[in-house]
Amino acid sequence: MRILVVGAGIGGLTLAGFLKESSIEYDLIEKSSTIKSQGYSLCIWNNGRRILEKLGIAEAFDKAGCPVNYYCVRDGNGNLLRKYNLSNFYSEYGMAHTNISRTVLHTMLIDLVGEEKILFGINIKQIIQRSNKVKVTFSSGEEREYDLVVGSDGIHSEVRSKVFGQGIEKFDDWRVWYAWVDNSFKDRNTITEYIEPNEFVGMFDLKDKTLAILSAPVKHSIWDDVEHRKNRLKVAFKGQVRIGGFIDMLEDRDFIPSDFSHIKMKNIVKGNVVLVGDAAHGFEPHAGLGASMAMEDGYVLAGELMKVGDIYSLKVALRAYQDKRKKRVRIARNLTNRMRGWAFVKSRILRKIINAWMPFFPVSFLLNKYHRLLREEI
Ligand SMILES: Cc1cc2nc3c(=O)[nH]c(=O)nc-3n(C[C@H](O)[C@H](O)[C@H](O)COP(=O)(O)OP(=O)(O)OC[C@H]3O[C@@H](n4cnc5c(N)ncnc54)[C@H](O)[C@@H]3O)c2cc1C
Repeated sequence: MRILVVGAGIGGLTLAGFLKESSIEYDLIEKSSTIKSQGYSLCIWNNGRRILEKLGIAEAFDKAGCPVNYYCVRDGNGNLLRKYNLSNFYSEYGMAHTNISRTVLHTMLIDLVGEEKILFGINIKQIIQRSNKVKVTFSSGEEREYDLVVGSDGIHSEVRSKVFGQGIEKFDDWRVWYAWVDNSFKDRNTITEYIEPNEFVGMFDLKDKTLAILSAPVKHSIWDDVEHRKNRLKVAFKGQVRIGGFIDMLEDRDFIPSDFSHIKMKNIVKGNVVLVGDAAHGFEPHAGLGASMAMEDGYVLAGELMKVGDIYSLKVALRAYQDKRKKRVRIARNLTNRMRGWAFVKSRILRKIINAWMPFFPVSFLLNKYHRLLREEI
């Protein structure tokens, strides 16, 4: 079997990492011309770590990451609304929830696969399916034929739009700006969220570094010019007392914008083309599950592909992959929506009501679904 994997991100590299141990031949293409990782940090729950364990890189991951012991929700003045202690997760699962630089995790996966296995600076121009083969034309004009094409090319996937259709990605009209800020703005081993109407700020501890994530409603179609970005952020986040402190310490270009969007598809297989990770089911990062889900996809798809033979067809394998992923992706999506529900609120009245209720939300409202994801078989 000959496979084309489009996109050397978290999901594509995980798939390639497992295929290394098989006789399946693959080409792995990446549109960036060099190793370029988005510079934010990723919260990885133990389901993602379990995949890294299977790949033999969990120890290196533990060393590089920062355990998250607490999750705090505060208002813009810093008043504590709710503090979740995650120690039960640690006693039950060992390593439970780790914050790691995306660049570091990405590099670990590249090292595992081998940089020389990645064909950088290549994009796809056309994908045509005929009689169980997929003919791909690359940006260079070269054509190749494959038994399977895997779209692991992220939330704005070109494989998805070329094969499954346009307009599947839905923008939420909330923009995020992330920036590395001074360590004095964080609480140790904690994710802290500061929430006000139309304003969300998250602080993530990464041992010697701190990532700030700022989010506010902005129409996706409105371009975010780098010039005067700081001043615009100060106005947009005027309800946040702490943020003024770090905004002034940074430059306009230190804040990197990205627009939230999501992908919801019934079928992630079409003929001999299959989607993995954000390309298949991208959701906003509120529950910190996108990267772990992409790694799970890579693991499950590799397992199915390795079973293909005389009595187990590729068609059956792809159907099994799609069916196996449905339930877990649904749980992760529900969790994401639940957490977005209290984080991204525009109305002042609704914000007041949620804030007043927040100390009384049963712990199970949030944590039981995580337990389900972590306990159940992947
Ligand atoms: C600010 C922010 C914070 C986040 N925080 C978290 C978090 O805390 N925890 C978490 O789990 N998730 C988080 N996420 C989401 C997480 O980054 C994604 O869910 C995860 O990276 C998905 O992996 P993927 O492999 O599907 O896609 P990606 O990792 O995005 O990889 C896609 C790859 O495909 C390449 N590519 C794109 N198009 C093409 C093409 N046409 N041809 C070839 N290559 C192509 C890209 O260059 C990229 O290398 C966050 C996202 C953002 C924006």
